[in-house]
Amino acid sequence: MNIPFFDYPRLYLDQKEKMIEIFDDVCSRGAFIMQSDLDEFENKFAEFTNSNYAIGVANGTDAMELALLAIGVKKGDEIIICSHTMVATASAIVTAGGIPVPVELGYDNLIDPLAIEAAITPNTVGIMPTQLNGRTCNMDEIKSIAEKHGLFIVEDSAQALGSKFKGQCAGTFGLAGGISFFPAKVLGCFGDAGGVLVQDNDLYHKIYQLHDHGRDTDGEIKSWGRNSRLDNLHAAFLFHKLKSYPEVIQRRRSIASKYQEQLENLNELNLPIAPDAEPDHFDVFQNYELEADRRDELKEYLFQNGVGTLIQWGGKAVHQFPELGFNLSLPKTEKFFDRCIMLPMNIFLSDDEVDYICETVIKFYRS
Ligand SMILES: *Cc1c(COP(=O)(O)O)cnc(C)c1O
Repeated sequence: MNIPFFDYPRLYLDQKEKMIEIFDDVCSRGAFIMQSDLDEFENKFAEFTNSNYAIGVANGTDAMELALLAIGVKKGDEIIICSHTMVATASAIVTAGGIPVPVELGYDNLIDPLAIEAAITPNTVGIMPTQLNGRTCNMDEIKSIAEKHGLFIVEDSAQALGSKFKGQCAGTFGLAGGISFFPAKVLGCFGDAGGVLVQDNDLYHKIYQLHDHGRDTDGEIKSWGRNSRLDNLHAAFLFHKLKSYPEVIQRRRSIASKYQEQLENLNELNLPIAPDAEPDHFDVFQNYELEADRRDELKEYLFQNGVGTLIQWGGKAVHQFPELGFNLSLPKTEKFFDRCIMLPMNIFLSDDEVDYICETVIKFYRS
C-alpha cells in the first residue's frame, strides 16, 4: 500500500466535474472580487458556526492579525499563547505590535489554563488559545481567567471549523476567531484562504475596513486599511464544500474511532482523546496527533511500509525557535515534541487503509 499523509491532487480530482462547473460559472460571470458568491459563503459560514458575523479574508494568519489590529494591540502588549501552535499565531501578534508569550500544553495537548494564570503580568492584554487538531479548549476555564484579569480572547481556530465546546463553535468564544481554508485544513481550498468570525458589530466593521482598503460595508472609506480579501472564486468553491461538511466531520471522527479501537492497547503510544470520551467536547480531528515511544524509528518504519506521517510544525514548538527571540524552557512541551507524530487523517482514507496503518504500527512494536 502507498498512503500519503495528505493526497493533494484528490482535493480536486474527487470533485473535478463540480469544481470545473463552479469555475466556469464564476469566471463566465466575470465575478472575481467581492461578488454574490462571497456574500453567500460568508452568510453560510456565519450560520454554520452560529456566529453573528463572518468575513472572508486572504488566509488564516491575516484573520488573526486583522482581529488584533482592530482590537488595538499596542507596542509592549503581551498576549499568551500555547507554544504548541503554528508560528502564525505568534507572528500575527508580532505584526500587530504585541509580544507573544508561549506557555505549556495541558493533558489534551492544548494550552494549559494553569500555565496561562502563571504567565500573566501587568502587561498582559489577551489570551490567544489555539483550538489545535480540531479540538476546542475548555473555554469555561479560559473565559473565567480572562474575566478575572480583564483580558481579551482571540481564538486561533484555524484548525477547528465546526469543533465545539459545550455545543458552541470554536472561533465564537472570544472577540474574534480566525479560520484557515489552507488545502490540508478540514475545509480546504485550492490555495490560501481564511475567515474571521466576529460577534460584536463595532469590531466587525473595524475588521471589515482593514481587510478592504479601509472601505466599510457601504463602500465608503472610513479608516486606513489594506487588502486581505477572500477571492470570490474561492468563496464559491468553499460554499459548495461547506454543504457536505457535516459528513466530512463524521468521517474524520469515525477514522479517529478506528485508530482508537485498534491502537489503544499499545502501551508505547499515547493516543489523543477519543471522539466520544468527553461529552463537553466535539472534536473535528483536523489531525490525529499522538505520542509514541521510539518516534523517529516508527516514522521511518511507516515510511518504509508506504505510510506517510508528519511531525507538526517541523518538530518544534514556537518557543524552540531562538531565531525568533525566544529564550525560555517549557519542559512538558519539549518532551512532547520528542514524541509526537501525526498519522494520516483525511476523508480520502479508506477503511482498509486505516486498518493497514494500524497493523503496521502494531507490527513495529510487536516485532
Ligand atoms: C494553518 C494554521 C494557521 C495559518 O493559517 P493560514 O491560512 O495558512 O495562514 C494558523 N494557526 C494554526 C494553528 C494553523 O494550523
